[in-house]
Amino acid sequence: MDTAADGAGLHRPACYFDGLTNRRHMVELRFGVKLDLIEDSVEVASWPYDDLRVVDGGKRTLRLKCVSSLPLARLEVLDPAAQAEIRARARLLDIEQGGRGHIGRIVAWSLAAIVSIFVVVIYGMPLIAERLTPLIPLSFERRLGDMADSQVRSIFGNRVCTNAEGNAAFSKLVEAVRQTSHMDMPLETKVLASTVPNAFALPGGKIYLLNGLLQKAQSADELAGVIAHEMGHVGHRDHTRMMIQRGGVSFLIGLLFGDVTGSTAVIFVTRSLFEVSYSREAEQSADAFAIQAMHALGRSPAPMGELLFRITGAQAGRTIGILATHPLTEDRRELMRREDRPASGPEILSDVEWQALKDICRPAKARQ
Ligand SMILES: [Zn+2]
Repeated sequence: MDTAADGAGLHRPACYFDGLTNRRHMVELRFGVKLDLIEDSVEVASWPYDDLRVVDGGKRTLRLKCVSSLPLARLEVLDPAAQAEIRARARLLDIEQGGRGHIGRIVAWSLAAIVSIFVVVIYGMPLIAERLTPLIPLSFERRLGDMADSQVRSIFGNRVCTNAEGNAAFSKLVEAVRQTSHMDMPLETKVLASTVPNAFALPGGKIYLLNGLLQKAQSADELAGVIAHEMGHVGHRDHTRMMIQRGGVSFLIGLLFGDVTGSTAVIFVTRSLFEVSYSREAEQSADAFAIQAMHALGRSPAPMGELLFRITGAQAGRTIGILATHPLTEDRRELMRREDRPASGPEILSDVEWQALKDICRPAKARQ
């Protein structure tokens, strides 16, 4: 983040209402451990970032309250840079909003959840999950992904590969697949320096590629297929559907009463990622998504099948991510071989870019 220029984010003016009187205080914002509101060099309030919530405001004004402060206290921020600073720090800013048309949607969503709890007994979870998933706001899904994120990263050694040329090549590949498959959800893709040969998606658009899988890949086409498969899961929101299915009634109640921000939810999200694989249907439709994306790029989906087969030969029994045990890798390879077509599009990456991507986890100076 580029905040150095303005001296730790000081001197951003804003309007503050203390919640007791209707006097308007002109304050400056200081972005410290908390958001400090300074009036004439005196700190008049200090709001924890996680307690900040957006309240309805004009188009250009960011209007905030603080859930641990007086209920009527408000902060109005007009300065776009200050708004960006706040948005970067306050993770739960929008949880009471849920995006555009939020109130109606949240009401509808809550009602749907309540009805679901009663209907569950009759129709069972899979159908409910199918119906409910599209109603869950994307902002909520992103929160689930964020919650699981640090746990997942630490499981895989907590090192994100940052080699600049490697990242440029990786972004190029991801972007090629994303554009061709018309994914309009924002994605966050990273390579982790783990030797485990796998790739997986978290709810809300995070896709992780582990270096172990990257090293087994022999071409950009092989890898592009895998990334497209994970995008398929993200686009179909398979993870959210799976969590509803698995968590069932308690998960729905958690959603309704807001326990989902608690630590139980973090454990739940992470566990469901590692203990349960997607359904066979979800895997098949993610494969279909990948095949379609590769065709649209004018590249063959067959290499992806070869890559998966190459890995499971040595690594049978892994059940998460791209290497889910069903459908069988042999069947997947057969399917993708049947979809093999001569290349009609340009190479996704040049040889130089592909090599840079392969080296993404190497520190720059160690590279020859
Ligand atoms: Zn999958």
